[in-house]
Amino acid sequence: AAGRLYNFSAGPSALPAEVLQQAADEMLSWHGCGMSVMEMSHRGKEFGSILAQAFADLRELLAVPDNFRILFMQGGAIAENAIVPMNLIGRRAGFTPKADYVVTGTWSIKSQEEARKYGEVNIAASTEAQGFLSIPPVAEWRLSDDAAYVHLCTNETIVGVEYHEMPMIGQDSGSVVVADASSHILSRPIDFSRVGVVYAGAQKNIGPAGLTLVIVRDDLLDHALPITPTAFNWRIVSDADSMYNTPPTYAIYIAGLVFQWLKRQGGVAGIERANIAKAQLLYDYLDSSAFYVNRVDPACRSRMNVPFQLRDATRNDAFLEAARARGLVQLKGHKLVGGMRASIYNAMPLAGVQALIEFMREFERTSA
Ligand code: PMP
Repeated sequence: AAGRLYNFSAGPSALPAEVLQQAADEMLSWHGCGMSVMEMSHRGKEFGSILAQAFADLRELLAVPDNFRILFMQGGAIAENAIVPMNLIGRRAGFTPKADYVVTGTWSIKSQEEARKYGEVNIAASTEAQGFLSIPPVAEWRLSDDAAYVHLCTNETIVGVEYHEMPMIGQDSGSVVVADASSHILSRPIDFSRVGVVYAGAQKNIGPAGLTLVIVRDDLLDHALPITPTAFNWRIVSDADSMYNTPPTYAIYIAGLVFQWLKRQGGVAGIERANIAKAQLLYDYLDSSAFYVNRVDPACRSRMNVPFQLRDATRNDAFLEAARARGLVQLKGHKLVGGMRASIYNAMPLAGVQALIEFMREFERTSA
């Protein structure tokens, strides 16, 4: 759309222009009801229909099985770092509260730190010493016999590693996989037979920041520690259809528009094909270039977040400035990694990735 930049931000990030346009058209009076969605009672029939549609579309898009509940919460993925242990770490009767954490980047480091407030944490595997460039195979994880769950971050937004398959832990272990999928939810299918809880902040692939999605298997709802705040108790949120407290109504409405947009893209299967094509184009270009480099093990490179370095880091600022002049913005890498990062979530069109590569070629030529 006119005046729009190609925005490679890691989050909050670009939303489909169609969605923003529809929200603009419906801003003053949603479906002729005389009110903005922001002004509606969350208990009224208008918002009730928006909420029900959002739940139904999300369930359809991700093929969420009937024995899983979808919760719309608040506080972001960082709040879930505490909410997960509060709801789960005490679930194994007769054991002291304990959980396994697999550390594959900065976000999983943060998750395990927070969990230590609520129980014992075992680091089942960590790639920190190797600079977070790969994902250790399940066979190498040192899982505990008495853990309530094993926590993973299935796409590490900063270092750019992604699980391309949901790992399978032994069904008889008594443990269950919990996945922080904030930065790749809805970009690919989720194998719910291998996971008990999936959570995600909304501000990458879902909608505005503030909304947090939790998908939880129903047998995992009833184990909250007594200290768990009522508003963060999954059972209570679930029984109240995510309306125990006033939900982030406008954010849910926008998320619902994004879900409908996704259905028009052929659903998760359709968007996954597009995401594979975009990522492949960019990684192939990086691998073919002597000027730029991505060091992540090709087997676990993220389709969503592509960090790359200029071999000559003194050119970083010039790169960012020239990119901006071309309408390619938010390419600066996270300070922990340096260099650049292109986040190419669902809403980034192929044309945006092509424009980035064309610019990178030209920048390399003019830097020689
Ligand atoms: N986990 C991952 C994988 C993330 O990318 C982020 C945000 N970038 C977070 C957790 C933290 O999310 P929030 O700021 O929404 O709490």
